[in-house]
Amino acid sequence: MRGKGLLKGMSLTLKAFFSKKGTVQYPEAKLPMSPRFRGGELELDHKKCIACGLCAMACPNHVIELTTAVNEDKKKYLTSYVYHSGLCLYCNFCTEACPTKAICWDKNYENARYFREDLDVDCLSISQQKSVTAAEESFGTGKPEMDEQEKTRQGRAAG
Ligand code: SF4
Ligand code: SF4
Repeated sequence: MRGKGLLKGMSLTLKAFFSKKGTVQYPEAKLPMSPRFRGGELELDHKKCIACGLCAMACPNHVIELTTAVNEDKKKYLTSYVYHSGLCLYCNFCTEACPTKAICWDKNYENARYFREDLDVDCLSISQQKSVTAAEESFGTGKPEMDEQEKTRQGRAAG
């Protein structure tokens, strides 16, 4: 009876030893998050954003602060977009309210910060920087063409 139990136990151990591992070598390796994962920080695509403000209005905790302006073509555009991640409930109301799918989660689960002010994310600057970097990479050399929103913004700042 004892021998049978031992064999059963050993067979389970060997099965677990050779089966696919359920753990990863974090932090060197990271698990990919599922498409429905809500977490990390809000990622803005300023080119898709129509500055309607619905995301900020849908937020129950006033996490999103944005300011807008109107260009010569009477089109609204963002002048600032700050996400106060420390206040976020991850309820997803903001992304669901966005009519152009301009915001999504970056799915990064390493959000610890040393300083409270680092929890405030300037999503507009990050998005603009990303599109500049992407354009530089795709064009190879030189400065990329500015998009219309950026031209308007810089024109206003200059004069
Ligand atoms: S997930 Fe909820 S609490 Fe967080 S910014 Fe969006 S609406 Fe606000
Ligand atoms: S709801 Fe979407 S389109 Fe409207 S301001 Fe927010 S991110 Fe931009």
